[in-house]
Amino acid sequence: MANKRKQHNNEAAVLDLPVEKNQQIELTIEDLSHEGNGVGRVEGYTVFVPGALPGERVSVAITKLKKQYGYARLLDIVSASEDRREPPCPIYKRCGGCTLQHFDYQAQLSFKRKLVEDNLRRIGKIEGVTVHPTIGMDNPWRYRNKAQVPIGEEEGGLIGGFYAQRSHEIIDMESCLIQHEKSDFLVNQVKKIASKYGIPAYDEGSHRGVLRHVVTKVGFATGELMIVLITNSDKLPHQQALVEELAREIPDLKSVVQNINTKRTNVIFGDNTRVLWGEEYIYDTIGDVKFAISARSFYQVNPVQTEKLYSKALEYAGLTGQENVVDAYCGIGTISLFLAQKAKKVFGVEIVPDAIEDAKRNAALNGMDNVEFQVGEAEKVIPAWYTLGNRADVMVVDPPRKGCDEALLQTIIDMKPEKVVYVSCNPSTLARDLRILEDGGYRTVEVQPVDMFPHTTHVECVVKLYLK
Ligand code: SAH
Repeated sequence: MANKRKQHNNEAAVLDLPVEKNQQIELTIEDLSHEGNGVGRVEGYTVFVPGALPGERVSVAITKLKKQYGYARLLDIVSASEDRREPPCPIYKRCGGCTLQHFDYQAQLSFKRKLVEDNLRRIGKIEGVTVHPTIGMDNPWRYRNKAQVPIGEEEGGLIGGFYAQRSHEIIDMESCLIQHEKSDFLVNQVKKIASKYGIPAYDEGSHRGVLRHVVTKVGFATGELMIVLITNSDKLPHQQALVEELAREIPDLKSVVQNINTKRTNVIFGDNTRVLWGEEYIYDTIGDVKFAISARSFYQVNPVQTEKLYSKALEYAGLTGQENVVDAYCGIGTISLFLAQKAKKVFGVEIVPDAIEDAKRNAALNGMDNVEFQVGEAEKVIPAWYTLGNRADVMVVDPPRKGCDEALLQTIIDMKPEKVVYVSCNPSTLARDLRILEDGGYRTVEVQPVDMFPHTTHVECVVKLYLK
């Protein structure tokens, strides 16, 4: 240990850093990083302190040193921020699912807005654009409609909850404050009833046992409930009794599904899915649009905020009923169907074939015949579609974290739709792409951050662009 410390101290000296590993110091926290860590400085050297908040004076121990920045562990808060709150969740520190519960909710919303502004300025060189205050939740708890819970075993039965940070040790949990209450109830019923029948949990180490994960889905608007049991084997012992008892104990249960995953993998779902009891789908509505949700469907996890986000996208699209709209990265068609209510025609493109199947089913479910969906890469399908002489009046993009492909951005610039609505889950790639669109003749008009994931650092935005 002494040797090791010496080595680190040498390292600090070689790098010419003002602090050493394990050194205890006091810091003033100036900012919050995009990961939600407090940011302090020692003689200009940046130190990240998980759990510390802007404005706080803290005592820390340096844990990790790199050339440009280091990390420190929070030891003591010398003077606390006015925005510091007692995290209501008893397992907050061990879980790691939420990172901002110790931060006042209104302050979280301001932080997210600032994060977007900083990215636009720093990466996009975009100045003077209105970034509206983040649209938050009236009640920022119990907002998720889907839980994926790993199952383990302790003496006395099954446990299920979350993996302790940076490990695969399962910690039992009765309740998760960002999940719908019904989700807690479903998981607890599965643990109780499956324990009673002696159904063994899957064990990663030996690759034996049966029950790997329980996935729950809740239709917020309809109250409909789904349980997915992910098993390491085709056979589920006591299947009949288990399922019948679940159905008896859980009002509003509509579907019990088994998914079989026999691989040694961290991926939750396997390839085979079968309905054990009830329906293949549960239903939910966002605004006036109805969605069918299967065990494997991707569906937005915060339906309350999704409605606000998509209403904003619809407002920014400014549809009159005459427009041809393209929805790139359309998933199961959530935005497409929302826009189809007001557009002449919507064309949705998505890379995952199952999602397109769902999108088509959802269009039919809502009796919408002015939507068309195609499987493929947006950056290939849309340029080809444009080459055939098609045009969009409004282009909507909702890409994954890595942002839009350049070929797609170039097609937008060539095709010159009057409006572009950019929905983004990553402010840094958003800023990069906005710069390309600005250079290609677009003007960023306004930006609306929406808080889809309270108590985490994620931030979603809708952006309106006009052709100059
Ligand atoms: N708009 C949808 C989903 C957005 S998430 C909704 O709100 O539900 C981004 C989607 O882009 C995912 O469904 C992902 O499968 C898809 N995707 C990723 N890369 C793609 C590409 N190159 N072309 C088309 N779709 C892609």
